[in-house]
Amino acid sequence: MEVLWKCPQECSYLQIQDILDGVDDLIQLSYLNEPSVLHNLHYRYSHDIIYSKAGNVLIAINPFKDVQLYGNDFVTAYRQKFLNGPHVFAIADSAYNEMMRDEVNQSIIISGESGAGKTETAKIAMQYLTALGSDSDSGSDGIECKILWTSCILEAFGNAKTSRNDNSSRFGKLIEIHFSARGKICGAKIQTFLLEKSRVVQLARGERSYHIFYQLCAGAPSGLKERLNLKMASEYNYLNQSGCLRVNDVDDASKFHMLMEALNTVQICKEDREHAFEILAAVLWLGNISFQVIDTENHVEVVADEAVTNAATLMGCSTKDLMLALSTHRIQAGKDIVAKRLMLQQAIDSRDALAKFIYASLFDWLVEEINKSLEIGKRHTWRSISILDIYGFESFQKNSFEQFCINYANERLQQHFNRHLFKLEQEEYESDGIEWTKVDFEDNQECLNLFEKKPRGLISLLDEESNFPKATDLTFAEKLKQHLNTNSCFKGERGGAFSICHYAGEVLYDTSGFLEKNRDPLHSDSIQLLSSCSCHLPRLFASNMLNQFQKQSVGTKFKGQLFKLIQQLENSTPHFIRCIKPNDKQLPGIYEKDLVLGQLRCCGVLEVVRISRAGYPTRITHQEFASRYGFLLSEDNACQDPLSVSVAVLQQFDFLPDMYQVGYTKLYLRRGQIGALEDARKQV
Ligand code: ATP
Ligand code: MG
Repeated sequence: MEVLWKCPQECSYLQIQDILDGVDDLIQLSYLNEPSVLHNLHYRYSHDIIYSKAGNVLIAINPFKDVQLYGNDFVTAYRQKFLNGPHVFAIADSAYNEMMRDEVNQSIIISGESGAGKTETAKIAMQYLTALGSDSDSGSDGIECKILWTSCILEAFGNAKTSRNDNSSRFGKLIEIHFSARGKICGAKIQTFLLEKSRVVQLARGERSYHIFYQLCAGAPSGLKERLNLKMASEYNYLNQSGCLRVNDVDDASKFHMLMEALNTVQICKEDREHAFEILAAVLWLGNISFQVIDTENHVEVVADEAVTNAATLMGCSTKDLMLALSTHRIQAGKDIVAKRLMLQQAIDSRDALAKFIYASLFDWLVEEINKSLEIGKRHTWRSISILDIYGFESFQKNSFEQFCINYANERLQQHFNRHLFKLEQEEYESDGIEWTKVDFEDNQECLNLFEKKPRGLISLLDEESNFPKATDLTFAEKLKQHLNTNSCFKGERGGAFSICHYAGEVLYDTSGFLEKNRDPLHSDSIQLLSSCSCHLPRLFASNMLNQFQKQSVGTKFKGQLFKLIQQLENSTPHFIRCIKPNDKQLPGIYEKDLVLGQLRCCGVLEVVRISRAGYPTRITHQEFASRYGFLLSEDNACQDPLSVSVAVLQQFDFLPDMYQVGYTKLYLRRGQIGALEDARKQV
């Protein structure tokens, strides 16, 4: 492997120069090593230059403060090319131009740790694309405006304060922006992935549930509060359990008013809005329902208080039916159906499962409604630009099923990244016959096999155990050990935990709760209750109820969604943005080197620099090159073939031999080489 990371003692005048000025693109560093990359980014960060390039990848370091980089003057400057430094606008601009030029769908793939700035970056890209594609005379009904307001709605229902980010997205999101052949926006579509449902019922200390609950409690007008029997957030068990009801510098009431404006703009009608609020209030009241043990076997009944009556009223069922559904399960006993009383933990679980199901269904319904509203100009759709904002790799002290799914998604996305940045590029060099020393990169196929292989991969083994009534998390762990030991990414099982060697490092997963979370059960009694409700629940939840009957596991459903996502990305030209979190405190001005380095290593940025530097970013077929620059030759070349013309041009302009390579079909040039020819063209 080529050694490009030279030791710092080799610093030269050139390197010092880089550090003094800072370079836009890390591949321009005269000495490439981790310290010089870190220094360069730090230097720029301390001058509020938060964007840099690593070859074709944009690096964005979270400023944790307002940086004056996103006004309309900046949009115009990037559009008209007065500015061309690294910026999200520049990436969005290339995506747009390439879509128009090549007539190919584009994707902007944003990744990074929690709190690194993915969601903000996605919004900045959307701001640019909507400004560019707005069509004042098409009567498109302010579609751009609608697209921008969707973020406010999705953040209210899908974001929450966590220990790492006060506005953490607890779902993945792909937004497709559709353009007409004239390059004008004509619609959009949002897809979401794996909402963290458990947050509705269970919170870690210092964290919050979804923003919408606090916004509703703080901001609902008095009439609505009365109709919903709404109390303050501190009165609800689902919200007060974590000892955290507020987010610094955030006024939930004014956020609620903003949300109402967003719902208005996206044209979610008043009736639907009210139903959504009823459902939210029902979820909160469900969390206050308590149980009373009635015998020595720990069987329970529901305490008949305002919580259960309010929940039932809001859901549109009788209090009696709700009490029954939460404290008994009907089972088949021979020919008869008998009601079996639940024990305390079972009853709590069935109440929480109902609350989670209702909330997740509400979220899905909302996304569907937003999509209907964004569909308007669909018949004019020609090409699209998709923006992906999805949770980054996670590794905590305790990792559970959620991290398992998130990290699986990241393995898939990393493979897509590798394919485009390393594999396809190198394959092209090889097939076109140019001299090229292969640069190694981490291939993660083995790890993907560990997850996906049939019949014995992590996901199928998990499903198998989930369907086996007597299985437990421990038997699942045991099974993994039995079947997966031959895969080098599986690092054994110890006391119910197992380790996976991911591209970004080894993660230890604790199997407790895996089977239950994968099954995500909702008892048939609860389903029946929901379908009999007179409120709008059955209509809202039709598709989710169907899923429950089909009993697709969470892992398998997620795998299916990921396959579809990757397929969609593969059919587009990708643009990558890697967001970096400079400190864990969410504060401006603090740049922690080790934290940054860990992220650069784990998202493959350093490899990208290495390979881009060794590569040839400009590639032109001999045909194109000859027809564009052939006329610059001093001698007549009319009867020469394109290859000979190309070589003659290179010789006439004294291109240095290591600045280009001649392939079978194309000419390959190092960065910055084409400029001299373009200048010459302009002068003729
Ligand atoms: P998660 O994975 O938890 O959703 P994320 O990567 O989406 O995290 P964001 O929510 O986008 O992170 O960013 C966290 C916070 O950082 C924002 O709320 C904002 O305060 C700040 N921030 C991020 N990017 C910028 C930016 N370009 N300018 C100013 N502040 C920013
Ligand atoms: Mg986010």
